[in-house]
Amino acid sequence: MRQHKLALCKDHYLEWIPEQTARFIKKYEMFTPEEKILVAVSGGKDSLALWDILTRLGYQADGLYLGLGIDGGINYSHESQRLTEKFAYENNLKLHVLDIEKEYGQSIPVLSEISHRGHGRPCAVCGLAKRHEMNRIARELGYDVLATGHNLDDEAAVLFGNTLRWSAEHILRQGPVLPGADGLARKVKPLCRFYEREMTAYSILRGIEYIYEECPFAEGSQSIFYKEALNQLETARPGAKLIYYLGFLEARKSGNLFVEKNERHAQLHPCPKCGQPTSAPELCSFCRMIEKAVSEV
Ligand code: SF4
Repeated sequence: MRQHKLALCKDHYLEWIPEQTARFIKKYEMFTPEEKILVAVSGGKDSLALWDILTRLGYQADGLYLGLGIDGGINYSHESQRLTEKFAYENNLKLHVLDIEKEYGQSIPVLSEISHRGHGRPCAVCGLAKRHEMNRIARELGYDVLATGHNLDDEAAVLFGNTLRWSAEHILRQGPVLPGADGLARKVKPLCRFYEREMTAYSILRGIEYIYEECPFAEGSQSIFYKEALNQLETARPGAKLIYYLGFLEARKSGNLFVEKNERHAQLHPCPKCGQPTSAPELCSFCRMIEKAVSEV
């Protein structure tokens, strides 16, 4: 792990990941050991790894699988459900399964066809349905919190997209914890500081069988494009993604994002030497630099 300047053997890596997850859960006050967690599982590596980690840490974590009815020539939904059920069975875990088509009469691709008259990919409809159903089920079944397997690559890509559009509303809503409110379950992302490749390594080393194929509708999506751009940055500057995301969390915590700092201008005064505005108590930085240079000649 170049970004941490750390290399671990298999045994220590499999201890390190849950230890770090426990640290993030505590740091961001996601949930307590007494609370009941519903983990949204898709059959992919991140959500199954999250369920595995929370179980290893001793949390009461049940799973929720949403059947989207996506085939795409690879039986995507069928295969991801099979792997999720297999994981639950082998680990003796409780899994809730909800099939969107059985519940609402149409699969996600068909619902999308109907609402968008066949234009575009079904991701908007899919995201809406997932958010709605996860929230509904978490609340109806009395869970304290809904956990998703978003990793650092996912979060950095979303932040990157929102930053390109300067979408303040979306940027301010992003974070490891979305507090619960009237009618809304608390949502948490315990893996948000792990790189995607770290979760892949964890899943492989733990022997978790997950669906390797991406959803067929993911191909060519904006989020994949942003992930590739950030990967190039990461290759040149190891740790860039983590610094980007953690810098955002710090700025958000300090409450300074999108707040005009007019007070700063009020604190400026003219430099006694050049007259330009400065916040330094005496000479401005430029004059101090010149003074120092002159004194050292
Ligand atoms: Fe849904 Fe697939 Fe789009 Fe993801 S890529 S939002 S699973 S349709």
